[in-house]
Amino acid sequence: MAKKDVHVALTFDYDAYSLWIGTFDAKSPSMISRGEFGAQGVRRILSLLDNHKIKATFFTPGHTALAFPKTVEDIVAGGHEIGHHGWIHENPATTTPDQERWILERGFEALDQVVGIRPVGYRSPAWDNSPNTIPLLLEFGFAYESSLMGSEYEPYWCRVGDKWSKTEPWKFGKPVDLVEVPVSWLLDDFPHFEYVVAPGYVNPGFKNPRDVLKMWTDEFDYLYDRIGSGVFNLTMHPQVIGRGGRMLLLEAFIEHVSGRDGVTFGTLESYVRKWRVGKSPSLPVDAGA
Ligand SMILES: [Zn+2]
Repeated sequence: MAKKDVHVALTFDYDAYSLWIGTFDAKSPSMISRGEFGAQGVRRILSLLDNHKIKATFFTPGHTALAFPKTVEDIVAGGHEIGHHGWIHENPATTTPDQERWILERGFEALDQVVGIRPVGYRSPAWDNSPNTIPLLLEFGFAYESSLMGSEYEPYWCRVGDKWSKTEPWKFGKPVDLVEVPVSWLLDDFPHFEYVVAPGYVNPGFKNPRDVLKMWTDEFDYLYDRIGSGVFNLTMHPQVIGRGGRMLLLEAFIEHVSGRDGVTFGTLESYVRKWRVGKSPSLPVDAGA
């Protein structure tokens, strides 16, 4: 039997206020205050990660770094990775190319100011991209991005210039030197748990953490038992997973996957560095002419 090689990437989108001000355009101090709990959530998460000697990735908007600098310093001091996550959680699909560039620059500036770090990984807020996103990420020298959903447990190369319409065949663009570590709404705490009512958006949330634990461990078991190698890219938000019963879920998930042959935990940056060795940009194996 082939040796198991499964990398578990615990990733945390440290949105804090930015999600509410940026994505949800909230005006209510009460709604915005939900983000403030993110800082407490980070402290709980850092303690749990430290107990298990796990390094993780925190995608952090510039706005969060300036609002809660001490927590971001603690993330870095703990040996974790900081990834780029916009300035104030903007949706790149609704910005102009100039605005999208400004957002990336503003995010870099804030992270540099607070912790002197220039991230090599990017996750777009709300997992939306524009046609300019990949070219911009290449220009800014990113090694990977993590917002697309074209694969499950296996990374792939991003492309520039995919073309589609409702009348013509799909046309694959050019694969480029930027690794995609795919995400999944199933492996994201937010839609499962967070109750949100905002203009044009209703999410009931409030799933039972034990049910979500079962979903996540089933996903992991399929990867480990049936496929045997790949990356388990779990997306969480400190303001969501950081609450009592959900912290127990995260702890139980870590315990479920820990200690098995061939399972490692670590940052996305470290995984991508290893994955890149001996590979070069190519189209998906199933791609047509
Ligand atoms: Zn986010």
